[in-house]
Amino acid sequence: MTRVALVTGGMGGLGEAVCVKLAALGYQVVTTYSPGNSKAQEWLAAMRKSGYEFHAYPCDVSDYESAMACVAQVEKEVGAIDVLVNNAGITRDMTFKKMDKTNWDAVIGTNLDSVFNMTKPVCDGMTERGWGRIINISSVNGQKGAFGQTNYSAAKAGMHGFTKALALEVARKGVTVNTISPGYIGTKMVMAIPQEVLDSKIIPQIPMARLGKPEEVAGLVAYLASDEAAFVTGANIAINGGQHMH
Ligand code: NDP
Repeated sequence: MTRVALVTGGMGGLGEAVCVKLAALGYQVVTTYSPGNSKAQEWLAAMRKSGYEFHAYPCDVSDYESAMACVAQVEKEVGAIDVLVNNAGITRDMTFKKMDKTNWDAVIGTNLDSVFNMTKPVCDGMTERGWGRIINISSVNGQKGAFGQTNYSAAKAGMHGFTKALALEVARKGVTVNTISPGYIGTKMVMAIPQEVLDSKIIPQIPMARLGKPEEVAGLVAYLASDEAAFVTGANIAINGGQHMH
């Protein structure tokens, strides 16, 4: 039986690598994109050209109604969701002194409320069927804090609190819940950082002296989604080139 994987923000740098990896492993992959994303059809066409047939649905993950409607449509048109990868996320970096409520709310809404919004409509189905995987993409900056990221660090740390609590609740039902905390990965989110800052401030903090690759994170997602990972739950797995160990 083909398993269905829903990857939020699957058209982004990390999400695309996750979609491609899961599709290559035989999952039926569904991705979401922001309702305002005008390049979604272009992305789907480019993926089709490379041999990947993805389903894609508009969804504002920060909005509960939008998430509920999206999951209902996916379950009707594609099938029950076996694997949920909460990957969509944004940054709005500024020091706390400059942080206004709008930028606080945007980051908490997209990175943390989204986890509730997307997990809520899929979790009961997973426990009823006795199998499921929920994988939350957090960040090293949720583990160690980061200058200019009170909003993002709070949201990403919150994700792992959610992971641990839900993992306890569904452990006996065949559903695992885990967090992945990537360090700096070479996607457009990180490439938006000026090269000079990357070279002088970020790369020197990474013992492996390089950015991570999206495919490396995708490989970890694939493992956590697999049957082999059935005994891993409530974990926060770091993938950061040695930048932060705990
Ligand atoms: P991208 O900016 O490339 O992708 C982010 C994705 O999130 C986009 O596909 C975007 O969709 C989607 N998204 C944003 N807002 C919403 C919303 N309201 N509703 C639905 N989708 C939304 O980032 P990355 O691929 O780099 O990051 C993916 C995840 O990994 C994020 O959670 C990020 O915090 C985390 N991460 C990334 C690291 C890195 O180094 N790159 C390091 C650690 C963690 P659309 O384009 O359609 O708006």
